[in-house]
Amino acid sequence: MEITDVESIRFTYQSHRTRDEKGHSHPAPPREATGQLTRIAVDGGPDGYCVGGSPAANRVAKRYLVGSNPLHREQLWSDLYRSQRLHAGTLYTKAIAAIDCALYDVAGKAADLPVYELLGGSPDPVPVYASTMVGDDDPDGLGTVDAYIDFCEDLVAEGYGAIKLHSWMPPFDANPDRVVRLCRAVREAVGPEIDLMLDSHHYYSRSEAKRIGDALGELDFRWFEEPMDEYSMSAYTWLADQVDVPILGPETAEGKHRIRAEWAKRDVVDLGRVGVFDVGGITPARKTAAVYEAFAMECEPHGNSIPELHHTCAMPTVASYFEWGLLHPKYDYEERSYPYLTDFPTPADGVIAPPSGPGLGYEFDWDMIEGNRVE
Ligand code: MG
Repeated sequence: MEITDVESIRFTYQSHRTRDEKGHSHPAPPREATGQLTRIAVDGGPDGYCVGGSPAANRVAKRYLVGSNPLHREQLWSDLYRSQRLHAGTLYTKAIAAIDCALYDVAGKAADLPVYELLGGSPDPVPVYASTMVGDDDPDGLGTVDAYIDFCEDLVAEGYGAIKLHSWMPPFDANPDRVVRLCRAVREAVGPEIDLMLDSHHYYSRSEAKRIGDALGELDFRWFEEPMDEYSMSAYTWLADQVDVPILGPETAEGKHRIRAEWAKRDVVDLGRVGVFDVGGITPARKTAAVYEAFAMECEPHGNSIPELHHTCAMPTVASYFEWGLLHPKYDYEERSYPYLTDFPTPADGVIAPPSGPGLGYEFDWDMIEGNRVE
């Protein structure tokens, strides 16, 4: 087997989301957006695919991958990782992740196994939490405490046993007291049986995070995620010592499995975090999860991609939840999110199972993708 190309397949589709001036997603009228797949072409097949990646990164990666055996993922990942130093502007971590996942797609197809099984995992369904979009200013959306309460009650009625709130972020009012009011009201509305979490997108200072964290402990939240910038291990150590609610992280810190090992070694937080696209692919995600296992730490996966689901099903310690969303009362997530896939896993009764096809098990709508190709 030999890699012959690392290709970017770009196409337009109708998106029903937009980003606010600070970059957070919200529902919006339909607009044309551009999607992308990364394809690893293999002489004689099978080819591998992953949703995402970047044309510039794939052009650089070609230099390192073409002519290699696609099954030699450790060496290929290491080559890409080391070359990031020379191509910092193009070969970013999420782009490497897409390539690594596409290599796993090749390996799974070649072995005629779904990736979770290639990794030693099982197809047992994983519990999901409903993850909300960041708040907005729409009283019928996520613009008020009452709007969040209505939405959370709907999510519980749909069968979700856990909900993660993304509260308001700028340009909307992100005052910590408002966030505490929201968390208190949602806890009162859904009762003690529903697991609740809060994600604050690394926005707050130590004292603000402590104010929120104190309330979350009292309200029995399951975790407090990314309350502060993740480049200060000292700030996180300080916070985790101060509050009762478990602190989770790091999610977005650079440094892949290595920085996560440092956090685990130094007892920085209570719960570990791993995201296939945050750490550079399934290859480093496996190492991250193994580190947390070694330190007897629970590890919660980040993001709702199909590669993430395969990895979650094969983690050495069972994750308590897979993330589903981002959800919003005015956004039909299952209808709108993947117009270029004809089938993808969705939760039922609060759990989700991985696709059973070989490789990553994507079911692409090739008519739609080919009919809307762009250069
Ligand atoms: Mg997060």
